[in-house]
Amino acid sequence: MYDVIIVGAGAAGLTAAIYTCRKKLKTLIVSIDVGGQTNLTSHIENYPGTGAMHGIELMRKFQNEAIGFGAELIMGKVNKVDMSVNRSAISDHAQKPQVFDKIENSFRVGLANGETYDCKALILAYGKVPKSLGIEGEEKFMGRGVSTCVTCDLPLYKNRDVAVIGGGNSAVEGALESSTIARKVYLLHRRDSFRADEVTIEKLKNNAQIELVLNSIPLKVIGDKNVEGVEVENIITKEKKELKVDGIFIEIGYIVDTSFVQHLVKVNERKEIIVDDRGNTSHPGIFAAGDITPVPFKQTVIAAGDGSKAALECYRWLTGGKGAVLDWTH
Ligand SMILES: Cc1cc2nc3c(=O)[nH]c(=O)nc-3n(C[C@H](O)[C@H](O)[C@H](O)COP(=O)(O)OP(=O)(O)OC[C@H]3O[C@@H](n4cnc5c(N)ncnc54)[C@H](O)[C@@H]3O)c2cc1C
Repeated sequence: MYDVIIVGAGAAGLTAAIYTCRKKLKTLIVSIDVGGQTNLTSHIENYPGTGAMHGIELMRKFQNEAIGFGAELIMGKVNKVDMSVNRSAISDHAQKPQVFDKIENSFRVGLANGETYDCKALILAYGKVPKSLGIEGEEKFMGRGVSTCVTCDLPLYKNRDVAVIGGGNSAVEGALESSTIARKVYLLHRRDSFRADEVTIEKLKNNAQIELVLNSIPLKVIGDKNVEGVEVENIITKEKKELKVDGIFIEIGYIVDTSFVQHLVKVNERKEIIVDDRGNTSHPGIFAAGDITPVPFKQTVIAAGDGSKAALECYRWLTGGKGAVLDWTH
């Protein structure tokens, strides 16, 4: 029985582990990979105190600290989370009600390989994954011209040409943001109108640096070592052409998979796990942090901060509200 199991070894999960381990909680991290989405950025410049470095290098530091403080880490995909109710403990309940309370608040985490692990508290920090286009070259050039994060990678394209793909708010805002740094911006959308706020669309129409490529879909990413262009097709005329660009931003949304926890915790319309400002979910003993929650501005430093909050709140919960001094004013 672990005190806490953390699902996900990205910035949120690894930071949570540093905090739970420093509170001497027996901690297990279960994750598909170590580092999460931060690994995808070749040049993280906005994580304070470290200087610019590859995302993988930054996440390696997080991992070393979490393991150094005593976290156990196993690789695997979690696909089941349940309350682990023990029948014999229930029969004990008449004599010892406190036993039931403890058992009621323990969880069983199931992995895709069939293994299960039990814990008293759970921190869900398994992020979200940007949707991909599924076209030739997309994976090959990820981090070498293809990006799913305008805010993160735009500074690499000063006075260069980029294409932003998508038709929602994030794509339109991404194109507008790109036009402040890049030389030329193509906004590629498969329809002829955008699903964005009117004010934002108005700004788009008045921006001479942005060329709209409508009713068009990307077919393949072109390049040798880095991106050199994208082949696109007009879905009405079937005409194909190449847009010569140095960067391609895919802004078509994210996928959150909360299917295996929705019977326990409340989620919003985007399926993100709803939390309060300390990482409490709607279920006692289950906490969540990072991109899996509705937190705005999905960023590494924000995920890390939320991971620390969820861990301290988890410790407070496990110690019956007696633990964790919450700020320095007390
Ligand atoms: C291309 C790109 C560039 C970015 N650049 C920057 C940047 O420069 N600066 C910045 O601040 N932010 C950047 N971001 C955003 C930042 O990476 C995220 O906000 C941050 O990684 C969120 O951390 P997280 O721990 O919440 O989730 P994640 O990083 O997504 O980590 C989730 C972890 O959970 C694991 N996992 C997922 N599902 C399961 C499961 N079912 N079972 C077990 N484990 C699971 C994953 O393998 C992963 O290890 C970028 C994002 C992308 C995609």
